[in-house]
Amino acid sequence: LSNKNNNNRILKVAIPVALIDCFDYSAVDNLPKNPIGCRVLVPFNNRQLIAVVIATSSTSKYKDTLKPIIKFLDDSPFFSSDLLKLSKWANDYYAYFYGMTLNQIMPGFYRQGKDESQLWQTIYYVNKTTKTLPAKAHKMQQVLNLISQNPTTGISHNNLIQNIKSCTAILKKLKEQNFIKSDACLPVIQKSKITDFAKKLNPEQQVIYDNIQQDLNNFTVHLIDGITGSGKTEIYLQLIDKILQQQKQVLILVPEIGLTPQLVQRFSSRFATEIITMHSGLNQTIRATGYLQTKQNKAKIIIGTRSAIWCQFKNLGMIIVDEEHDSSFKQQSKFLYHARDLSVVIAKNNNIPIILGSATSSMESYLNCQSKKYNYHLLKTRATKTLPPRVTISALNNLKLYEGFASSTLTKICEHLRQNNQVLIYINRRGFAPKYMCFECGEIKTCRHCSATMTYHKAINRLRCHFCNALADIKDICEKCGSHNIGVVGLGSEKIDNVINDSYPAYKSVRVDRDTTANKGQLEQKLNQITTGDCKILIGTQMLAKGHHFPKLSLVVIMDADRGLFGTDFRSIEHMSQEIIQVAGRSGREGKQGEVLIQTMQPKNQIWDQLFGSSYFDLIYSYIKIRTQHSLPPITSQILIRAKSKNAKFADNFLEIFKNNIPHDLKQQIRILGPAPAPMEKIANLYRFNLVILCHKNISLASFKKWVLHYMANNKYAKKLSWSIDVDAVNS
Ligand code: ADP
Ligand code: ZN
Ligand code: ZN
Repeated sequence: LSNKNNNNRILKVAIPVALIDCFDYSAVDNLPKNPIGCRVLVPFNNRQLIAVVIATSSTSKYKDTLKPIIKFLDDSPFFSSDLLKLSKWANDYYAYFYGMTLNQIMPGFYRQGKDESQLWQTIYYVNKTTKTLPAKAHKMQQVLNLISQNPTTGISHNNLIQNIKSCTAILKKLKEQNFIKSDACLPVIQKSKITDFAKKLNPEQQVIYDNIQQDLNNFTVHLIDGITGSGKTEIYLQLIDKILQQQKQVLILVPEIGLTPQLVQRFSSRFATEIITMHSGLNQTIRATGYLQTKQNKAKIIIGTRSAIWCQFKNLGMIIVDEEHDSSFKQQSKFLYHARDLSVVIAKNNNIPIILGSATSSMESYLNCQSKKYNYHLLKTRATKTLPPRVTISALNNLKLYEGFASSTLTKICEHLRQNNQVLIYINRRGFAPKYMCFECGEIKTCRHCSATMTYHKAINRLRCHFCNALADIKDICEKCGSHNIGVVGLGSEKIDNVINDSYPAYKSVRVDRDTTANKGQLEQKLNQITTGDCKILIGTQMLAKGHHFPKLSLVVIMDADRGLFGTDFRSIEHMSQEIIQVAGRSGREGKQGEVLIQTMQPKNQIWDQLFGSSYFDLIYSYIKIRTQHSLPPITSQILIRAKSKNAKFADNFLEIFKNNIPHDLKQQIRILGPAPAPMEKIANLYRFNLVILCHKNISLASFKKWVLHYMANNKYAKKLSWSIDVDAVNS
């Protein structure tokens, strides 16, 4: 292993600290053959940190003061040159510190300095022997029998201890006495089994399939813009089949796997191949194992959330990004990358096709189709020939409501239940009631730490803040005016659950929100109750809004559709439109036409016509026009500079001074708005201020980003508050 060549014995390493430059260290004696991409342990400011070698050199500016590294953690590169290249590009684009970027994209297991030998499983095999066990060694015999049942494949340690409790000592004995031998290897992925077959594509689907299929060996970007149930997934499945035939890997990105176990099930049922999932719900060992299985080309289909893009693929053939509009593809802390956008870069680097799909495609993707960067494909009808849902706009003005429900809504729910169908009541707010108010002076209980009102949770009979999770006790007297006329206002999922149970006692209901699914297995259990038809009434927050497929669901009631109409973010109306279309799409998916009922105080608002009267494409274009008028993203590029501090003035001033320091030549290319308080000005005792940078799409912001990063890394006040540079931010 040792490298006698003394020329390149200076290592340039990226250390996970908020500094721009790499650091030079001298190497230890046993230098791996290819040190670039290996993890090393280095001394740094009296600490030991795990860093990554990104170059070697024969000289260093700091030659006389160089410290040696402590040791190499890998003897061959952990990061491939491809991944180093991609992550460097992403790091510069999203303006972050390379050492921290590499640290973040590394699975947690490796971040702790562990290596793959710790992922290996012990496999036991029987030894051919004429020896016999003593007659009384019952348990030894039992263990030996189990191992003998698998003469060729052996049996894993985990499998054994599941079958026979506490047999570790016995295994040791058997091995010492040569009855068995053992071997270590990475766990084998069980191949999925085919239980479902490809559907004959309808003409609309066929055209799209043919178009994509004719050029599978080159970089192309496709947007499939298709309403819910139009057969997008069926197209993905048939294309994946082609890629698997070429022995290549497929990456499928989805917003949240935990919410849609059905989707993974659907992919598994169509292929006999090695499928793994990659998401934050898995423990570190399982994730690291999946990472390695992908690197070794043992995993063929990788279904994952945003961080799955950082896998190292051996032979990637295609990427699919389902629900491409979803904002969860944007990382919201530290290294603020966008997984959909980076997927396009990955596809380009690998010269392979990428397919983006959604019923409510993003403006960014529409615009890319318009400029011919992406290929546009439209699916207008539902694949099962079901008509799109009938939509009723139900005006609440001047009506006497029963706990938030119009009486016509309650009647409608009843009709659907009588026909033995399921009904979904959608409310995007958990808890019982969103406000605890004094009816005398109007005082509303707000969180002590945030600029948010507190939500009443009946189950715990306390108020909870949905931003920082703080709890507060209920007082029966107003803290401000002393009145006893005090109570809850508004609706949350918990309250609707109560109302529904009182109103329809004969029908079983199920509530799906973060409160009722906090424990492992609860969501699966609830989804199961829905799919089996056990529960007739579904009460859900956005957890039920997308991706699910409930065949017996015929009515969707949207309780507080107006919420997004007057949002503080310029994207509010777009997000609200996506949400409503996604929920509405849950209704009537199996042959029968469904119904959607929208309760609103704004029945005359043109939004309803736009949402349901024309295509989503037309709706988005009306929004794009407004963004164009105001030069807002995605017409322009945006960078959001955030500052958070316990001291509001300090955060505000910091951004003001930052703004004044931007060099003249850089200032000329950009438009600066703010600093101004963020829409949620205070969260968890931190005051938040934003500075918005806007710039023409054709102008490169590379030198501006570089300048910002230098400013932050070298400014002494930057160390006294929390700041971030959010390139292509998805919210304020
Ligand atoms: P999407 O992904 O656009 O929501 P899906 O691919 O899930 O749509 O299709 C919706 C339903 O229609 C599914 O039950 C699917 O099996 C069925 N389906 C899709 N394509 C076809 C087809 N060509 N023939 C018959 N059924 C189809
Ligand atoms: Zn009061
Ligand atoms: Zn709070």
